Formats: sequence, structure tokens, C-alpha cells
Amino acid sequence: MSEYQVLARKYRPQTFKDVLGQVAIVTTLLNAIKHKRLAHAYLFCGSRGTGKTTLARIFAKALNCQNPTADREPCNTCRCCKEITSGSSLDVLEIDGASNRGIDDIRQINETVGYTTASGNYKIYIIDEVHMLTKEAFNALLKTLEEPPEKVIFFFATTEPHKVLPTILSRCQRFNLNRIPTDMILHKLQHICQDLEFTAEDEALRIIANRAEGGLRDAESLLDQILAYHDKETITTESVASILGVMPRETLFELDRAGKEGRLSTAFDIANRIFAEGKDLIHFIEMLTEHFRNILVIKLSGKDAPTLSLSDSERQQYAETSTLYRQDQCLALLDYLIEMQGQIRYAPSSRIALEAILLHIMRSHNRIPVDILVRRLADLSQKHDTTPAQSTPQNENVTEDPTPSPADLNRKKKTQPPPPKPPAAIPVESKPKEAPPKICPEKQREKDTLLQFAAVELEGTIQKH
Ligand SMILES: [Zn+2]
Repeated sequence: MSEYQVLARKYRPQTFKDVLGQVAIVTTLLNAIKHKRLAHAYLFCGSRGTGKTTLARIFAKALNCQNPTADREPCNTCRCCKEITSGSSLDVLEIDGASNRGIDDIRQINETVGYTTASGNYKIYIIDEVHMLTKEAFNALLKTLEEPPEKVIFFFATTEPHKVLPTILSRCQRFNLNRIPTDMILHKLQHICQDLEFTAEDEALRIIANRAEGGLRDAESLLDQILAYHDKETITTESVASILGVMPRETLFELDRAGKEGRLSTAFDIANRIFAEGKDLIHFIEMLTEHFRNILVIKLSGKDAPTLSLSDSERQQYAETSTLYRQDQCLALLDYLIEMQGQIRYAPSSRIALEAILLHIMRSHNRIPVDILVRRLADLSQKHDTTPAQSTPQNENVTEDPTPSPADLNRKKKTQPPPPKPPAAIPVESKPKEAPPKICPEKQREKDTLLQFAAVELEGTIQKH
């Protein structure tokens, strides 16, 4: 029985056309080969699992292949190709910068760099995680890069290009690899499942693809884990969500409905489920953030917006749920959740913090948009300026929207998560003017209430002029 090969290795692209999501880079490299305009050093930057070393290996194969195709792709059958694929080529040396980071390691490279190639055309050094090299090692490397022997090419890969010395950077042709779009990852996962004769719900694979955040290798590793659990039965959304510790998306729609209907106790139910099932809290807050981003995108661009990574049925669900929110409300919630992502780690009780966040989201339906509030205050001030000391009908300005009573405001303060932060620093341009000295007590009370509300709503975000 052959040894189990992890999916990321088994399904690693072996030709340029199989590389996902890096069209511009692939085109540039193919053209360089075609026109024989090769640089001595290439630097591939990008987050993990986006294909940096994969590209370097394919490029190395394409250069050394004894029988390349008309498209300049490696044949993958000649001896050179096979040796590079198996990692046994004497001409293509892969060095892990993280574990060979010292000057002696680089000196060894420098010593072998002048030797002729064993069988291929080019001697190629692939240095992964190049930013991990020590300063001395960088300097030693620089000597070689300044005067590289002919037919020697360096490939550097790094997740942190800002840590690579500028003198090295300036000698490299640099490529920034994109994060791979979720739909492409999804497609690849579907292909793998098909190939291995697993059936999987699309939604289940989409959870994996989303979780990988643009890194194909991460997605494949997660799929490895899922396949190990499922013994050929269908991979369902439920089981994937459960294995990965992800809340099913339905929970978020439930939160939307309950918020609109004012059923605040749902916040505690959801928080309880997350803790009882041991879900990843940070990931849940990220999901919430993405949820409101999706709603906002649908509100602004409609449900067919290409920037949404959703299935058709999810798009439909989002189109429905987006009618429950106002645009400014989504923006404020997004700001709030982004801030909470950073803060939740430090909350003394993550459970209470989560409950407070959920309550804050649900109660956002009751908040009067700041621009309306400011307009009302301005209107009110103007009225006082023109009609001082006149008796006016009660509550003239506060009946359109549910304006909370002072008691309500106090409750609202208590339900805010620790530490409370403003949802957004919305610049307020029209500051209410000072009221004239003589106004009737009723009007004054009304204005006080509005001002009190404004103070809570803005939470100190008005700039001092
Ligand atoms: Zn070949």
C-alpha cells in the first residue's frame, strides 16, 4: 500500500496553467522564458499557501525541462522534470531559510554556485522564507547576487518582504502573489473530492474555502482533516461546521430576525450555544464582521455583486436579511465589530463580552442615525432662536422615531460591552447653537433629552473646535 500523501502535495500544480489565481505572474514568467529575458534573482512575496515555492519549482522545471511544450510548460516526464518534482535534482536546490539561516549555509551556496550543472541548463537555488536569514547571511548572499555566474538563478520566497534587506530587494525581480479567490479554492476542493470519490455539499466546501482566507494549502490541509473524519459518507455542512468549530451561517440570520423583532433574549441563546459547543469565539466575531460586510455589499451593489463569496441560495438569504438593516446601521456595526475583533481577546469574561456584542447588534435597530439626530437638534435650536418663550405643542420633534426615555438611555449604557467604544467617529459638522437665555421649560426639557441622547449616541466623538 502506498504511503498517504497529504492533499497539498498530491494536488500541487505541476504546470503553469494549473497555478491558481496568479495569472499576471504566470504570464510574465512564461514570457521571460519565451524571450530568454531571465533575471538572476526573483522574489515571490505573498501570504502562506498562495503558491510561492510551487511557482518557483514550475519555473525551475520549465527552464531545465529537456522536452518543454510549445507553451513553454515543463513536460513533467523527462528526467530533469521528475528529479525536480521529487526534490532530488542536483541543479535545483531548495533551501529553507528558516532552518539554514546562518552565514555558513550561505557560504556553502556561494561555493557551489560556480560549478557547472549536472544535467540541466540552469543551476537554480530556491530559498524559502528568505527573510529569516541573518544579516551576515544576507551580506554573504549579496556578494553572489552582485556578480552571479551565468546560468545561475535565485528564487526567493517570503511572507514578509519588509524584512528582506533593501540591497537584496533591489537586485530581484519582485512578484506579489495574490490571495487566491474563494471561488477558485472552492473549485479546487470540489475537484479533489470528485477525484477521491467523496461527495460533499457545496456549502460544506465553501466553509473550508472561506476559512482558508486565500491560502490554498490551508484549505487543502483542512480538507485532509475533514476527509479523515468522513469515511466516504457525504461531507455535510453541519459536520464541517462542527469539526472546524464554525457556527452555521443560519445562526447569523436568526440574530438578524430576532434583532429586528426585538427578541433580545436570543443574544443569550446564541452566546450559550457558542460556548456550549466550544466554538472559536474570535472566528465567530470574524464571521459576524463578514456577515455585515455582506449585507452592506448587497445594499450597495445588489445581490449579484461579484465581490461576494456566496452561493446562490446564500445570496438570496442575504438579499432578504439586508432589508432588515439601514445602510448607516451596517456601517456603524462594521466599525464596531472591527474594533471588537481586537478587543475581545482582552475581555475579562469573553462570554459576557460576546453577549454584550450581540445585544449591541440587536439594539442597533433602535438607534437614531446620527445625522437625523443632529438635524433635529439644529432644527430645535433654530426654533428656539426664532420663537423664544412661546408655548409650543409637546413632543413635536420626537415622535417620528422611537426616542428612548432617559431611563432607557441608562439601560442602554449598561448593555454596552466592556470597554464601550464609539461605533464610529462620525464627524459632526453642524453643531447645535447655544439656546437663547429665555425659553419655556418644556422646550428646554425636550432639548435636554435630545442632548442627553446625543451625548450617549456620540459617546464623545464630537470634535472640539
Ligand atoms: Zn521535462
